[in-house]
Formats: sequence, structure tokens, C-alpha cells
Amino acid sequence: MSLESYSKEEWEGLCEQCGLCCFEKFEDEDGRILFTSTPCRYLDVVTRRCKIYKKRFKVCKECMQLTPELVKDLKWLHRECGYKKAMSNEQ
Ligand code: SF4
Ligand code: SF4
Repeated sequence: MSLESYSKEEWEGLCEQCGLCCFEKFEDEDGRILFTSTPCRYLDVVTRRCKIYKKRFKVCKECMQLTPELVKDLKWLHRECGYKKAMSNEQ
């Protein structure tokens, strides 16, 4: 199944709500992505849920909507992210 063929609900359902993408990260000089232990200020670190989910793009300028096109290009999404796993299963 190609990433583009998911319905909006199916696409949202791919997220396993691990919350890892909501932690600050940086790229070192060798191009490696390193995650820090600093969460976005809007992440509930216990439930791993966004506290402002419905208005996150309005409130948080760093927050980005993960689309099939973007997921294919983003190298900082970790391997266990539901979107990355769906991408690797893409046929
Ligand atoms: S890393 Fe992937 S699976 Fe985890 S919360 Fe972010 S989008 Fe969802
Ligand atoms: S605003 Fe965006 S980056 Fe921050 S916790 Fe919510 S979903 Fe994650």
C-alpha cells in the first residue's frame, strides 16, 4: 500500500503516539541525528500526548504536519516511528 493511498483517519492512525518526534534534536557534523531529552513545551511527557493537539499548528510554530511527501524526506524521524514503518512496508 502506498503512503498516498491512506485515508486521513488511516494516516493519523499510523502514529503510535510515542512522542519522540516532539523532543528537540540536532544534526551533528557527521550528519547524525541526535535526540535530546528536552520535550516540546506542549508535550505531556507522561501520556506522550500533545496538550494542544487540535490547535498545534497555530500555537507552535515549530510543529509540522507529517504528510506522506514529508515523511519520505525527513531523516530525523526515527526508525520505529509508525510512519517510517509504513514507508518501509510500502510496495
Ligand atoms: S515519532 Fe512517529 S509514531 Fe512517534 S509520535 Fe511522532 S509521528 Fe507518532
Ligand atoms: S505542539 Fe507539535 S511538537 Fe509540540 S507536543 Fe504538540 S505535536 Fe509535539
